[in-house]
Amino acid sequence: MRILVVEDEHKIANSIKKGLELENFAVDVLYDGSEGFDFASSEDYDAIILDLMLPGIDGVTITRLLRQKNIHTPILMLTAKGQVEDRVTGLDSGADDYLTKPFSFNELLARLRALLRRPKKADGRILKVGDLTLDTVTYEVKREDKIIKLSGREYALLEYLMRHRSQVVTKEQIISHVWNYDADILPNTVEVFIGYLRNKIDRVNDGPHLIKTVRGFGYKITGEGE
Ligand code: CA
Repeated sequence: MRILVVEDEHKIANSIKKGLELENFAVDVLYDGSEGFDFASSEDYDAIILDLMLPGIDGVTITRLLRQKNIHTPILMLTAKGQVEDRVTGLDSGADDYLTKPFSFNELLARLRALLRRPKKADGRILKVGDLTLDTVTYEVKREDKIIKLSGREYALLEYLMRHRSQVVTKEQIISHVWNYDADILPNTVEVFIGYLRNKIDRVNDGPHLIKTVRGFGYKITGEGE
């Protein structure tokens, strides 16, 4: 899952980035409201963590402009203590949730996960395709009952595929949701990582292969007869 963080306090922004990367998210950080708005409206993010008071354009205006452009990426707004009025304005403008500074990273993570679950309510904590399961909280991946060890990037790729089970996803979609903006990723890299995943997921038991190549389009993950 790819997250945009727009926050002008470098220390906070960088610690959010570091924390989220440890949790297998791809993260882009911008310290300025105008740049943040540009990225939020041109790149495909799964969620945005948006500070309220920003140089350039403030968080409420960014939210309003995005919603006007029909961009409904979930937004978690960060506010300073005492900005109750602003918080209300923020939610009214179309933000999905807010968090008051100072906050614990664990709370940020919990709220972010809740937002990421929201669009598709069917997605609970455990994603399942055939006998493959992925626990989005403990990061445990299993085929039947056998635990499969994945690298952070392999996990992120698998989670993205599983959140779109039975749908074809293109290499471009994969690149823009699994890697951040700074990562210079070529379509070949996606093939390489799909290969790693297949070795770990599909070539471990006699069960059906779940990751399918859709020639000329991309990939999809499906169970038998799904
Ligand atoms: Ca600020």
